[in-house]
Amino acid sequence: MTMPIVKYGHPALRQRGKTIDTFDASLHRLVDEMLETMYQADGVGLAAQQIGKALQLTVVDVSQSEDRPSSITIGGKEVVLEEHMPLVLVNPSVEKLTAPISGPEGCLSFPEIYADIERPERVEVTAQDQEGHCLNFECDGLLAKAIQHEVDHLNGILFIDRMPAKEKEHWRPKLESMRKETQQALQKDEKTSS
Ligand code: ZN
Repeated sequence: MTMPIVKYGHPALRQRGKTIDTFDASLHRLVDEMLETMYQADGVGLAAQQIGKALQLTVVDVSQSEDRPSSITIGGKEVVLEEHMPLVLVNPSVEKLTAPISGPEGCLSFPEIYADIERPERVEVTAQDQEGHCLNFECDGLLAKAIQHEVDHLNGILFIDRMPAKEKEHWRPKLESMRKETQQALQKDEKTSS
């Protein structure tokens, strides 16, 4: 089952995710729903906040991206990327390994908005999988950028927060109307349910 993706202006996008400590069937169901939602939306990553749940949980799959390569290294050895996709990251943290460089980004919660964002090209990721097993790997390219974007979501940080001031200024009218539209829809929902 796919879930509706919340847009800019929804309060869940600004909430820090709760640490997950139960790795049960309901978590697995949520992971399946998030994967299905991400694939249907043609995204390379989706955070729990984007389906309205403030949890430390994100899914990522960059295996379909041919023009922006990625690599993944486990225990000092480069492994076959496709064999590790999709990635389910529970309670992830990221350590930057290189200086930031600029690259294009979009976000499923900000339809039709794109900007160049500065992030390190290579990072070390520590997380748990959906069974609670520890994950530790280094990655670069699109995968590194995508994971940093998603881990930001888990902390209530959005890519517009990292946008250069000039680009944010350019998008401001569109951002404002998106925020208002989302909030009006939420108010309408509240009225009909009360
Ligand atoms: Zn996003």
